[in-house]
Amino acid sequence: MRKPKNIEKTMKILIKEYPSNEKTTLNRMRKKPDAFKILISCLLSLRTQDKNTETASKKLFAVADTPEKIVRLPVKRLEKLIFSSGHYKKKARTLKHVSKEILERFNRKVPETKEELLSIKGIGPKTANIVLAFAFNKNVLPIDTHCHRIPNRLGWIKTKTPEQTEAELEKILPKKYWNEFNAIFVQFGQTICHPISPWCSRCPVEEYCKKRNVEKRR
Ligand code: SF4
Repeated sequence: MRKPKNIEKTMKILIKEYPSNEKTTLNRMRKKPDAFKILISCLLSLRTQDKNTETASKKLFAVADTPEKIVRLPVKRLEKLIFSSGHYKKKARTLKHVSKEILERFNRKVPETKEELLSIKGIGPKTANIVLAFAFNKNVLPIDTHCHRIPNRLGWIKTKTPEQTEAELEKILPKKYWNEFNAIFVQFGQTICHPISPWCSRCPVEEYCKKRNVEKRR
């Protein structure tokens, strides 16, 4: 696949717009990486906003920040602690299961390979890549809904699933941007390039965007 013409220009502008000190809860955790806490916060972050992830993570880790402690925690208490992250009943079940697996199958340590991470029910490709990138500093591309939608709108790729997006971006995005890609595109997607009706009139990379599949915009 040919590298899109303006990919470097677009990345440089977005890196300036979304500097490191404004990054998401998960990105802030990279400074002092604790693989288990990164994994748990990533599971809490699914289908919710960043501020909810932060609140739920803080409440939970004040009480239970290891697999042993989460396994021992009564389910009702766990649900209450993570309530602000939404889907709290399902997430509590996932947290319990993942913690038990790490204790029993992986000797208390979060595994460092994608295959092992994906072998734990409840951990999907995005979560696995977040853990690999943020906890173990591996050069992978964690693709969430923003990271999937925006490169398609920009016209860099034409894909239907986050898995396809990961594979295509690996071919066209220079490796020097992989580390920052998720943080930048999550912030960009939450503030400007919204899923519905993006703010194209305020967009710093509007001139480089093909606006593919954008039906309504502001
Ligand atoms: S121009 Fe609009 S669709 Fe394109 S990246 Fe910017 S906000 Fe998103």
